[in-house]
Amino acid sequence: MSAPASANTSSESPPTFNKDMTPEIAFLAQHSAHDFETVLLRWEKIAVAANLRRTILADDEGGFPVIVFETPTTPDAESGLYLCAGVHGDEPAGVWGLIDWAEEHIEELRDSIGAVIFPCFNPSGLVANTRHDHAGRDLNRLFQDDSIPLMKAWRQFMADRKFRLALQLHEDYDARGIYMYELTREGEAFGNSVFQRIESIIPRDIRPEIEGNDFENGILLGTDIDIEERVEEELGGGYPEAIYVFISHSHFSLTFETPSEFSLWERVQSHRKFISQAISAAI
Ligand SMILES: [Zn+2]
Repeated sequence: MSAPASANTSSESPPTFNKDMTPEIAFLAQHSAHDFETVLLRWEKIAVAANLRRTILADDEGGFPVIVFETPTTPDAESGLYLCAGVHGDEPAGVWGLIDWAEEHIEELRDSIGAVIFPCFNPSGLVANTRHDHAGRDLNRLFQDDSIPLMKAWRQFMADRKFRLALQLHEDYDARGIYMYELTREGEAFGNSVFQRIESIIPRDIRPEIEGNDFENGILLGTDIDIEERVEEELGGGYPEAIYVFISHSHFSLTFETPSEFSLWERVQSHRKFISQAISAAI
């Protein structure tokens, strides 16, 4: 399935809605979940208002730019943020939740927050509604791979940068609620307190096993002690973004997952609120 890139761009005249529509139905009736042009337009406005520096990291090999934004405040190990959405193109809620969060925090982004933001890491996948990139690769097993121009550029950009908190925004079509991979330092877990503040939108997936891993109340806790072993044994040496960033760049690294079969409206709200609450808890 492919979605036309031109659907629902801001150049079209806005449709009229029944005044009795709920906010959710009004949102769903005009969503542009897989429209990368609209993603860029929304971010251009955010970047101007918050004085963000925009860099094209690389071409995604499908004709779209992979962009990174940097705040005027340089992120550091004490309070810096690394935010990334859209590594998997069929998981759009994180891309839009990140936009909503940024639009609500323009002044903080301009004046106080130090962050690097990857608003959509796999634009070709977003447009085509595919997990994989234009070349059919799962980017989230390739963050160690310098043979891919995007990954090489990402690693050069990351260099010796350090962050307090990294957030990776994802979705899962098998999930029955929200869940999280929490990578933290021994004794410093805080993911449960974040979920307590956001689970009123979509409840947790409470199954004891998710994606072949043992979860506890929607959270898989990992520490620096067991993580290298997991990459070798379970992932065949291929590094997901969260693990790579955790090992080399960030004190905490949380991967948040919303259930793709739930309402896009609730999923976007969950991502927006997750970002807010994770930052409050970690910094
Ligand atoms: Zn994903």
